[in-house]
Amino acid sequence: MAMTLIGRHAVVVGAGMAGLPAARALADFFEQVTVVERDTLPPAATHRTGTPQSRHVHALLGGGQRALGELFPGFEQDLAAAGAVPLRVGLEVRFETPGFDPFPQRDLGLITYSMSRPLIERVLRRRVEQHANITIRDNCRVRDIVAASDGAAVSAIRLADSNGNTETLTADLVVDASGSGNVTAALLESTGRGRPAETIIEVDIGYASATFAIPADTPPDWKGVATIPQAPQQRRGGLMLPLEGNRWLLSLGGRHGDKPRGDWDGFLACVQELRTPTIYDAIKRAERLGAVARFGFPASVRRHFDRIDDFPRGLLPLGDALCRFNPIYGQGMSVAAQEARLLHALLRRRVEEPDRLKGLAPAFFAEAARLIETPWALAAVPDFVFPETRGERPADFERSLEFGAGLNRLAAEDAGIHKLLFEVRHLLKPRSALRDPEIVERVKAIAASA
Ligand SMILES: Cc1cc2nc3c(=O)[nH]c(=O)nc-3n(C[C@H](O)[C@H](O)[C@H](O)COP(=O)(O)OP(=O)(O)OC[C@H]3O[C@@H](n4cnc5c(N)ncnc54)[C@H](O)[C@@H]3O)c2cc1C
Repeated sequence: MAMTLIGRHAVVVGAGMAGLPAARALADFFEQVTVVERDTLPPAATHRTGTPQSRHVHALLGGGQRALGELFPGFEQDLAAAGAVPLRVGLEVRFETPGFDPFPQRDLGLITYSMSRPLIERVLRRRVEQHANITIRDNCRVRDIVAASDGAAVSAIRLADSNGNTETLTADLVVDASGSGNVTAALLESTGRGRPAETIIEVDIGYASATFAIPADTPPDWKGVATIPQAPQQRRGGLMLPLEGNRWLLSLGGRHGDKPRGDWDGFLACVQELRTPTIYDAIKRAERLGAVARFGFPASVRRHFDRIDDFPRGLLPLGDALCRFNPIYGQGMSVAAQEARLLHALLRRRVEEPDRLKGLAPAFFAEAARLIETPWALAAVPDFVFPETRGERPADFERSLEFGAGLNRLAAEDAGIHKLLFEVRHLLKPRSALRDPEIVERVKAIAASA
């Protein structure tokens, strides 16, 4: 991918799931790309403090996998070589959803890889490290983003290393992939723009996760299991997926007053209380590896940077800094990868323009909004089934809920619809693909017959 340069230096804040693919996207257009990461980055696929969520199931959806494969050709082979477990979508994860225990298991012709979050990052880091013009500086925290004197553009970042030494790196473009987006928020406030408007859905989720050695006598018909609760009466579900090293990672998710417990006996009791016994039967004699980890996730947050008219030139927040999704639907990493691919496409289109960075952020926000629409809506509708969920309910909530129930029934009967539904859930197709008039008619017919 030989591209025309559009700047001398780009800085990426954070070497996580948005920062690494973003650095790859930028490497075709900037002489130098520096990724600044506050953590010590481990040489192996191990957990680190800056991403505590990594101890919980991190499913990479087909759409995210595809985006990463486009940015890093051969990425899937790299995952497989590192020990990731291939899963035939529709067939090898037993999907237990109310009314279907399990949902019909069919090979939908798509393979995704299942692995720990640290393994995905390690594979990505190795690929990024192969780019001569990308430098990863770990053990360095970005303290702030520096604006040019008139505040209209950013000019640099200031970082502090682990010894407390500070340094300023000038930059034509700063990509905020810090997850929190705190450095962007601080810059917007210090330049008088204020914080961006936010759409917030308070889901109040609690996770508890444990890892197991996969025993020899596992059921032959699945490699992973998802047990979905009967909402809203039940609020706890479980997802168990295979990891590299012949392990299972089981994450339990609960809401509001019904979060899974973090002590082993409590965790096990929560597994026993799942809607079906499948997961408990699988793990009850399995060897547990390590302690139970917990995580609290209060709210999905979408930041409307697009509504700030004079958004600073040369600054771009992406990944969780732009939109943080309810983790239960496994979308965050995939959307971050798709945003990095979008950034690459956008920069490529701008190489002919006289001022290539002018208007980059608004153009990115407009296209990213289209990308975010499907995963945000897919999560918001089931989240609002719970009466305790607070926030802006989707306008078409009742209709979407009814449509979703009918669509599920149709998908159980029809392999083609099953495939399409999963392509949408895996962010390979937009939600609008399900609104095809013929499908809508069939869903109506099946709903009427129920
Ligand atoms: C419990 C849980 C389960 C999840 N499960 C899934 C799942 O199944 N599938 C999925 O796709 N997503 C899942 N997610 C979401 C996923 O973790 C995020 O969407 C994804 O990590 C976002 O990537 P990011 O790069 O924006 O942020 P992160 O990956 O969090 O990375 C941010 C990086 O920036 C660094 N950093 C922060 N501030 C600074 C600073 N000032 N200077 C330097 N470095 C800094 C951090 O150390 C970190 O390395 C889950 C999230 C949670 C909480």
